[in-house]
Formats: sequence, C-alpha cells, structure tokens
Amino acid sequence: MPQPKRKGKRIIITPDEGEHHHDHHGHHHHHDQPSSSTTVDIELKESFLEYNRRLAQENRAFFDERGIRAFNILGSVGSGKTSLIEAIVERLKDRREEILVIAGDVTTTIDADRIGKHEVQTIQVNTGVECHLDAKLIRKALQSVDLDGIRILIIENVGNLICPADFPLGSHLRIVVVSVTEGPWMIQKHPIMFRDAELLVINKIDLAEVMDVDIDQLERDAKQINSSLKVIRTSVRKGLGIDDVIQQLGL
Ligand code: MG
Ligand code: ZN
Repeated sequence: MPQPKRKGKRIIITPDEGEHHHDHHGHHHHHDQPSSSTTVDIELKESFLEYNRRLAQENRAFFDERGIRAFNILGSVGSGKTSLIEAIVERLKDRREEILVIAGDVTTTIDADRIGKHEVQTIQVNTGVECHLDAKLIRKALQSVDLDGIRILIIENVGNLICPADFPLGSHLRIVVVSVTEGPWMIQKHPIMFRDAELLVINKIDLAEVMDVDIDQLERDAKQINSSLKVIRTSVRKGLGIDDVIQQLGL
C-alpha cells in the first residue's frame, strides 16, 4: 500500500558535479554556427546524444516493467505547463497516491511547490547551467523516492522549446504546450519539438482574440510538421479542455 506520509512530499535534486557540462555540446547541435564546431565536437555530440538515447530506452523499460505511464511535458516558460499539471492532478485527486511529478527548473522550486499543494509527491530537479532535463537526471530522481504504488509519472521539462527536443527521457508521450500569448510563429520556429511530440496543447485560447492569433493557423502549422500530432485547445485558467487532455493521456 502507498504510504500516506509521502503526500505532498518534496525532494530537490541537482546534477552530479562535473559530469553534466558535456550536455552543452549536445544541445547546441541544432543552432551552432558550423564554423564554431570542430570534428571532435561533433563526435562528442553524437556520442552524448546516443548515450542519452540509450538511458532513455532503459528508463522506458523500467517504466513498463513497473506499470508506470510516463509523460514528458514541454514548452516555453509561461506557456502554462505547471498550471496544466495542476489542473490534471486536481482532477485526478482520487488517484493522487499513484502520481509522481518531476519538475525541471534551472534554479527555483516554484513549480514543485505549486504542484505539491495538490498533495501529490513532487521532485524538483534543478539543472543549474543546463536548460533541459536528460534521461540520467530522471533516473537519479526516480532513485530518490519510493516508487511503490506509483502508476503515473508527469515530467515538467525545463521551459524552452529548443534543446529538450534533443533529449528523450523515456516517456510514453511527449506533450508540447504552446500558448497563444507566445505569438503566431512559435510552432514554425521550433519544428523539431513538434516533429517528435504526440500531443500539442494550445493553451490560453480565451486570449486568442486579444492577441490577434489565429488558432486554426497554429494547428495547421503543427500538422504540417507532424501530421499525426493530436491537438487539443485549452484554457487552463478557465478550465477548458482539461478533460480532453486527460482522456488523450489515457488517464
Ligand atoms: Mg512551470
Ligand atoms: Zn539545454
């Protein structure tokens, strides 16, 4: 039986000293100037991304073995990732003993604190200089808690739409949250993020008119990059579309 005492429990972890700086080679993969990369750098990048991919596969096998469904939630700072997670766990409160949330952030514990108020166990991962979570950090986070009874793992990635795309974590589903307040070009400017995702949540739709953003166009942009991408429109603030997201996640 899950132990009630872990309700709302919060743990903070950080990367191990000295091992994480390689990530910087990996995650500038897509936007480095070619002239600034040497052959050695490129080989390092490849092997590092390959290493992460292997760990992600191991994470996935671990989840499957334990019957855990894992979700990787991505999006810019301010897109509404934490609010969406709060809304999801609030609606799943009968199952909160089954839920573990890992919140990635560069330095703060704001997100884990917010989610922890809903009495689910949270792990804050502070990545320091890194702007993404990787598979090894997820493994380390999982080793820091008792996973007995955990069936749902929600991972909030660090807020940005670029390098987290390069680092699969072993999740079953990647969900990208984009809000209309980010303007009309968010999707076209970050094709890789949408190519590898299964679900796009277009958030803050109640502000579309004020922002003069065409939601249909955002959806077309996304489908052009990834025709099998599922799209759900939400206003987390107004409680719109949350049930559809939960259904799409199979929860
Ligand atoms: Mg957040
Ligand atoms: Zn990064």
